[in-house]
Amino acid sequence: MKTDTYWLEHAWLDTNVEPGVAVEVTDGRITAVRKGVETPPPGATVLRGLTLPGLANAHSHAFHRALRGTVQVGSGTFWTWREVMYSVADRLTPETYYALARAVYAEMALAGITTVGEFHYLHHAPGGTAYSDPNAMGEALIEAAADAGIRITLLDTAYVASGLLSETRGKSPNRHQLRFSDGTTEAWAERASALKDREHARIGAAIHSVRAVPARQLGAVAEWSSAREAPLHVHLSEQTAENEACQTVHGRTPTRLLADHGVLGPRTTGVHNTHLTDEDIALLGRTTTGTCMCPTTERDLADGIGPAVRLQRAGSPLSLGSDSHAVIDILEEARAMELNERLRSHTRGHWTAAALLRAATADGHAALGWADAGAIESGALADFATVALDSVRTAGPVPRLAAEAAVFAATAADVRHTVVGGRHVVRDGEHAFVPDVAGALAEAVAALRD
Ligand SMILES: [Zn+2]
Repeated sequence: MKTDTYWLEHAWLDTNVEPGVAVEVTDGRITAVRKGVETPPPGATVLRGLTLPGLANAHSHAFHRALRGTVQVGSGTFWTWREVMYSVADRLTPETYYALARAVYAEMALAGITTVGEFHYLHHAPGGTAYSDPNAMGEALIEAAADAGIRITLLDTAYVASGLLSETRGKSPNRHQLRFSDGTTEAWAERASALKDREHARIGAAIHSVRAVPARQLGAVAEWSSAREAPLHVHLSEQTAENEACQTVHGRTPTRLLADHGVLGPRTTGVHNTHLTDEDIALLGRTTTGTCMCPTTERDLADGIGPAVRLQRAGSPLSLGSDSHAVIDILEEARAMELNERLRSHTRGHWTAAALLRAATADGHAALGWADAGAIESGALADFATVALDSVRTAGPVPRLAAEAAVFAATAADVRHTVVGGRHVVRDGEHAFVPDVAGALAEAVAALRD
């Protein structure tokens, strides 16, 4: 079998910047890592800058990318934003969704993202009719990721109700939400079971939120993911209105409700985890349920600042996502988590650059069911993101501080190379398979306008 050699001018190994590292790759995996290699070995692919493990974008709704700019006009709340989002969702077909998602995932590749967690709930045709392949939309996303050259965990989402009514029943989905609903979680499980893992794709589950799945049906989704040892994600306490409704109907917080129905645990990730009680934080920590923070979306939607420091201290591993794609930049998500906490606490240094990179790489991948990605070490998948250290944003610091420069000053535009499974997907800032990513985005978004 053919072995390729990459020479990394600077590499992020464990928690250190190492100069001159040769990495051997066979069949998409790292087979050897050699330090102290001062010059590129003959025939090696040279990656200049700081090479990180590939970045994980742990929470995405690909179609929200079509809202960029549009939703920045006027004021409103999360709930008014949601109406605009629904109007875009109404127009998508498997064909237009494929075109949009391919462009969005190509934008992610350009940003150094090698794995996306797609929280997918747009399952059916308008009105809720199943497509001839009931997974046509999910398959379009899996194919889009393949064609953009990145990995995907399709978090197939149960979304069967519009709000909380009782233990057993939810409010009926509104006319927009009919596309999201399988009717019951049994029907959801049957459809989701037809999706299969493949080399670049793994199938996971999601509960849209405690608003969208009645309490008595939560356990069915948890059991489905347990049986497959698949990741399970859930939007959790993003808005105070969700907490209030849950208290009114169930007399407990959304976190407590999930715990009582067996949803929490090490394969589960709560997305946002913004408005939590002390008991919620302890529960999430004790069960080692993960927390996916999406700071650029949370600030965009005026959600609030989640207690990420306290969650992590309690035992909840952290991951990061670009969620609504107000921007697609995991480096920005990482620093925003730290900078939000500085504004709130009036102190600095809650996370080191190393800790933020861990959330952006190894822990993000683990949350998506790719425990074999997110580190530059023997046996791991050969996924890399190389950040330029000679751009106007990153020039100056000594190489020893390259991680600090990458996390606190670089942007997605500084990503020079992206390698996925030993395949050079982005070379010198150009996507190798999607020739004009900006053009593809413009075309795909224009196709969805009125
Ligand atoms: Zn979301």
